Amino acid sequence: MSCPKKIVLLGATGSIGENTLRVIRQHPDKLELIGIASHRRFRELAAIAEEFNVRHVAVFDQDAALAAKHSGLFDRQTPILTGLDGLIELATLDAAELIVTAVVGTLSLKPTLAAIEQGKDIALASKEILVLAGKFVMAAARQHQVSILPLDSEHNAIFQCLQGERATDVDKLILTASGGPFRDYDAAQMQAITLDDALQHPNWSMGPKITIDSSTMANKGLELIEAHWLFDKRPEDIQVAIHPQSIVHSMVQYVDGSILAQLSPPSMTFAIQHTLLYPERAEGVDATLDFSQWMRLDFRPPDFARFPCLRHAIDAMQVNGIAPAIFNAANEIAVDAFLHDRIGYLEIHKIIGRCLEKMAPREPTDLEDVLNADQEARRMAEELIG
Ligand code: MG
Repeated sequence: MSCPKKIVLLGATGSIGENTLRVIRQHPDKLELIGIASHRRFRELAAIAEEFNVRHVAVFDQDAALAAKHSGLFDRQTPILTGLDGLIELATLDAAELIVTAVVGTLSLKPTLAAIEQGKDIALASKEILVLAGKFVMAAARQHQVSILPLDSEHNAIFQCLQGERATDVDKLILTASGGPFRDYDAAQMQAITLDDALQHPNWSMGPKITIDSSTMANKGLELIEAHWLFDKRPEDIQVAIHPQSIVHSMVQYVDGSILAQLSPPSMTFAIQHTLLYPERAEGVDATLDFSQWMRLDFRPPDFARFPCLRHAIDAMQVNGIAPAIFNAANEIAVDAFLHDRIGYLEIHKIIGRCLEKMAPREPTDLEDVLNADQEARRMAEELIG
C-alpha cells in the first residue's frame, strides 16, 4: 500500500478550501493534509488543524497571526507562520507533494512559483496565477517537470477529456458557462441590476467576488485566458458555450469532429477529487447524476453585447503581454467598488474597457514587471471610479 499523498492547502477557509477538506475527509487512506493557510480566519484554521492533526499553519495577516498565537487554540508545537514568507515556507515544506492554491488574488503567485521550483505539483485554483503570469508559471513548470493540475471545474473537465489523446489532434476547447443569474435579462433589466441580484448565483455557491464575476461573465473571460496557458491553445481555438444546467463542465473538439465532454453535478468536489487523487479514481463525496430521471442539457452562444466583460477578456487574451493583468486588476477594483456600492453594475465593464484602452500593451520582462502593471492598472481603475 502506498503512503497517503501529502497536501498543503493555501486558502483552507474559503469555499474551495472547504470542499477540498470534504474530499480529504473522505479519503484518509489516500490523502493527508500537512499544511494549511488562511488570510485571517485563524479560528477556522485551528479547528481544521485539530481535526486533521496539521502541524504547519500560516495566517497571512500579521495581526491575525499574532492573535492566533495568543489564542491558545493551537498546539504549542505548532508555529504560526505569517506574511508572504509564511505562505512560501508552507508551499515549500519538504514533505509536501501537492500544493492546492486556493488563495484569492495575486498573493498566491510567489508561493506557487516557489513550490514549482522545489518540484512540488500544483493543484491550481487561484485564477490570477495564470492570468497574470501564465508565461512564467508554465515555463517554470516545464523546467522543473512539475504538473499543474487544474482544479477549476472547466479546466479539470478539459484536462480529463485530453487524457490519452494527442495534443496535435485537438481542434478546439469549448468552455461551458452557466451564464449567471442575468443570462436571460434584456438590456433594460440589465440597467436595473442591484448588488443583491448579482450575489445570487443559480447553480454554484461561491464567495462574493467570483459570484459577481460569474454574473458579468468576467469569470469566464479569466478562465479562457487560463485555458490558453494551461493547454497551449491559440485564443481563436478556445470557445465559450452557455450551458445553464452546469452539468457539462467543458468539452474538447478533435480534428475529426468528435467532441469529448466531462459531466457531473454542479459541485466542486468532483473536480477537486479528480485533481487530488489523479491519476487514481475513487468514490466521490457528492451524489452522482441520475439518468433514471429526465434531464435536459441546453447550449447557446454567449451574447457579447449584454456581457461586454467577456469581450474585453477575449481582446486582452489576443493582445496578450500585460493586457490580461490589466483586465484582471481593473475588474477586481471595479467589482470591489460595486460590492461597496460605489458604482453601478454596468460601470464594471466600462472601467475595464477604459483601463485596457488607456494602458499601452507590452510584453512583460519578468514577474515583477507584471506585478507593476497590475498595480498601475489598479491605480488607474481607482482614479476612474473617483
Ligand atoms: Mg469555473
